[in-house]
Amino acid sequence: MSGLKDVYESAREIGKAMGLTLKTLATEKPITVEYPDQPMAVYPRFRGRHELRRYENGMERCIGCCLCEAACPTGAIYVEAEENDPDNPISPGERHAKVYEVNLLRCIFCGDCERACPTEAIVLGHYIDLASYDRRDFILTKEDLLNPPEPNTIIRPAG
Ligand code: SF4
Ligand code: SF4
Repeated sequence: MSGLKDVYESAREIGKAMGLTLKTLATEKPITVEYPDQPMAVYPRFRGRHELRRYENGMERCIGCCLCEAACPTGAIYVEAEENDPDNPISPGERHAKVYEVNLLRCIFCGDCERACPTEAIVLGHYIDLASYDRRDFILTKEDLLNPPEPNTIIRPAG
């Protein structure tokens, strides 16, 4: 008798679960998207591909101080600074970054570089399409960083 009861209980539970599944299928929209055909929304604090920002007058914000390089826990940033030509300065400071590279294969997207930067020059945006078959594509040069595929200047609140 107890065997029959168990079978009945199991069938009832399966029926309940199937009912819930069918109800959810009929009433709720899917939470997945057909990426990459359909863009994927990310949270405002999401940290994606790096960008180097400029001021509104076109000057580069980066002053070549190397604080981001020092703050990076994985050694993913390489900066080579150069004195500005007073007649044709590239940044408002005494120096600018002659070379600026980010190695995305080392980066863990922690945001420490962004937090260390005194001029909000380096930021992590929302661009996430980082896949490539060529390892060289994962070294972002200064030109790549100054011209991101989807420019947006996300500045996260401190803390
Ligand atoms: S996000 Fe973190 S790991 Fe990546 S470059 Fe910046 S400091 Fe380095
Ligand atoms: S990005 Fe910011 S922290 Fe890094 S070298 Fe330039 S000014 Fe300094």
